[in-house]
Amino acid sequence: LSRYRTDFHEIEQIGWGNFSRVFKVLKRIDGCMYAVKHSIRQLHLDTERTHALMEVQALAALGYHQNTVGYYNSWFENAQLYIQMELCDRSLSITRSSQLLSEEEILKAMHQVAKALQFIHERGIAHLDVKPDNIYVKNGVYKLGDFGCATLIDGSLPIEEGDARYMPLEILNDNYDHLDKVDIFSLGAAIYELIKRSPLPKSGPQLLNLREGKISLLPGHSIQFQNLLKVMVDPNPVKRPSAKELLEHSIFDRFDRP
Ligand code: ATP
Ligand code: MG
Ligand code: MG
Repeated sequence: LSRYRTDFHEIEQIGWGNFSRVFKVLKRIDGCMYAVKHSIRQLHLDTERTHALMEVQALAALGYHQNTVGYYNSWFENAQLYIQMELCDRSLSITRSSQLLSEEEILKAMHQVAKALQFIHERGIAHLDVKPDNIYVKNGVYKLGDFGCATLIDGSLPIEEGDARYMPLEILNDNYDHLDKVDIFSLGAAIYELIKRSPLPKSGPQLLNLREGKISLLPGHSIQFQNLLKVMVDPNPVKRPSAKELLEHSIFDRFDRP
C-alpha cells in the first residue's frame, strides 16, 4: 500500500533535481495543495539514507520561518525518501525563465533570504546551496528552499557542498571553518547573477574574479549596493558580514517600516 497514493492525489510534476522529482499534489484529507519531493534512486545503503535524511532533519529541527520553504512531513516508501513541503509559485532560477527583476525587487529578495539565513545560522545550520534556483517565491514572499546540502556550522557532520558556481574559494580548498559565511558568499553571488541577468559561468575569468571578490561595475546601481555585494563575496570569510550584520545595513531600512 502506497502512503503517497493513499494520502495524496498527484496533480503534475513541477520540478526535476539531479536526484529528485517534485510534484504538485492535493492532500485528500485536508483538501490543500502541497509539493512532494522524492528521491529518484532507491536508497538501500545506510550511508545513502543517512545522507538523504540530513535534509529533513535540518528542516524539522529548524521549525517554521516565513522565509524558508515550510516542511510538513517525510517518510520512506519503496526505499525512496518522500518530503511533503509548502507549495511555492516558482523559483528565481534565471536559466529557466528570463526574469526581469528591478533592483528594488532583488533587494527585497536579498533582505528576505538574509532573514532566512539569520534564522538558520542562529540555530547552528548552514545551507551550503544558496542560489537563485533555490530561492522560491510564494504570494510575493521569498523563501529559501532545498536543504539537501544543509549541515551543522560547527563542522561535526559530513559536508557536501552545493553548486560550485556559488562556492567561495575556501570551500574549493577544503577549508570549512566559517560555514555561515559560505552562505553569505553564495547569496552575494546569487544576487550578482540576478542583477547581471545572465547565468554565472561554470568556469572562466568571471567566476575566478568573483571568488577574488572582484565584481564588474554595475551601471545604474547605487555605489552603496555595489559595495555591499563586494564585501559579501570577499575572499576572506571573516571580512564578510554575518546575516545579522547584513540585515543591519541601511540599504534594507525601507523594508522594515510598517
Ligand atoms: P538540485 O539538483 O538543485 O539539488 P534537488 O534534487 O535538491 O535539486 P530541489 O531543488 O529541491 O531538488 O527541487 C527541484 C525543483 O523542483 C526546483 O528547482 C523547483 O523547480 C521545484 N520545487 C522544489 N520544491 C518546490 C516547492 N516547495 N514548491 C514549488 N516547486 C518546488
Ligand atoms: Mg535545488
Ligand atoms: Mg538540492
